[in-house]
Amino acid sequence: PNPNPAPTVVLHACLGVGHLIPMVELAKLLLRRGLAVVIAVPTPPASTADYFASSASAVGALEAANPSVSFHHLPPPDYPAPDPDPFLQMLDVLRLTVPALAAVLRSLPSVAALVLDLFCVDALDAAASAAVPAYFYYTSCAGDLAAFLHLPHYFAATAGGGASFKDMGKAPLRFPGVPPIPASDMPHTVLDRADRTCAARVGHYGRIPEARGVLINTYEWLEARAVRALRDGACVPGRATPPVYPIGPLIVRGHGAAAEEKGERHACLAWLDAQPERSVVFLCFGSLGAVSAAQLKEIARGLENSGHRFLWVVRRPPDDPSKFFLSRPEPDLEALLPEGFLERRKDRGMVVKMWAPQVEVLQHAATGAFVTHCGWNSVLEAASAGVPMLCWPLYAEQRLNKVFVVDEMKAGVVVDGYDEEIVTAEEVEKKVRLVMESEEGDNLRERLTLAKEKAAEALADGGPSRVAFEEFLNDLKLVK
Ligand code: UDP
Repeated sequence: PNPNPAPTVVLHACLGVGHLIPMVELAKLLLRRGLAVVIAVPTPPASTADYFASSASAVGALEAANPSVSFHHLPPPDYPAPDPDPFLQMLDVLRLTVPALAAVLRSLPSVAALVLDLFCVDALDAAASAAVPAYFYYTSCAGDLAAFLHLPHYFAATAGGGASFKDMGKAPLRFPGVPPIPASDMPHTVLDRADRTCAARVGHYGRIPEARGVLINTYEWLEARAVRALRDGACVPGRATPPVYPIGPLIVRGHGAAAEEKGERHACLAWLDAQPERSVVFLCFGSLGAVSAAQLKEIARGLENSGHRFLWVVRRPPDDPSKFFLSRPEPDLEALLPEGFLERRKDRGMVVKMWAPQVEVLQHAATGAFVTHCGWNSVLEAASAGVPMLCWPLYAEQRLNKVFVVDEMKAGVVVDGYDEEIVTAEEVEKKVRLVMESEEGDNLRERLTLAKEKAAEALADGGPSRVAFEEFLNDLKLVK
């Protein structure tokens, strides 16, 4: 064996596409700096296969697309009676995987660090048992981290008699480093303070300060106030906050790019080539997002009435909206969209089933606006491409991201009705027109042009995100 193997950084991912994609990008960055990298991925036990099927296939695709990155599949834990709540199920799987992860850490010759996904908090115990320093890689925004780190303190301070967020309507929550957050925009897992999911999340965020540092997939310019509050320790009163390293935006020239190199360019990119500059509204709701059949029809009417060109990724509506993450067959567009819609719009619109190469679409000169569910990767991809956002949050922490995109970053507008039964066609038309035709839209575009420049600067030699990454690497050397 090599007497001086390169130190290994073990990255521990959770089971979500939106978490895995930036994790792979971090792995590539570390590899370029001469470190050895292993991504340890949990394997869902058979009892949970339904819920995690789409993530499991995404791991396979990422593995195939990134041969330079070594993936270690941790064995599926014994989990005979899965929790009925899918979120808690995921946390259980991750917790039950901790011993296997600890064994991997002990088996490798020279582990410099364990870097954890934000949901893998219990794996702090694996790091401790193997005497390896632990860091987090936070793949959502600094604003989310600031708000969530404050939650244990908030709940403790309002214990006994404090209302749950679900009963507070849009009352503003004032947390350090972030704009006021309407209580109803907090993620559903923490809406009811008596709920088990809330206890789990608050417990987790209470442990994040145990880490030696937190890498964040953001850039300082975009979230200056949240980064400052995290650095000043304002989010976690009475306790030291570990150093934060905003190293982003780490985005992939992903799925589309690999296909393009093989000469298999997606048809929607060729279609965009034929459209005027900044003329197309792109609609895509993340790796999982799908809306109801009635909502699809409203969107179609709104787009048609706006008169603007569009590129729209359509998924089959979930049979049970609470199980949006289950994989589903392709949508039947003729049946789902208004009669004659596809034919009438064929010169000005394109509908893509299931998946489009989003990064390439956003960076295409023809793309002028982005209707997004506000998943953090999507927000970073839009900011890096300079495309204004129409924010339509669906699940997870997306409502929170929406607050930050609109009120803090000034990078988008809200699509009203996202928190009601349906967003009307009139609202879709109104917001599309606002971004594409009005002075407010021009201002947004100007702001996004700046965001794009600042993203490029952050990642250029000597830029703030590069410097933050160097600081992280130096910290790794200090612990060795
Ligand atoms: N994505 C894509 N094409 C699609 C849908 C999603 O390339 O049709 C990519 C998108 O570019 C992003 C990721 O999948 O990198 C979704 O991550 P995000 O954080 O936005 O949302 P999530 O899927 O986690 O809700």
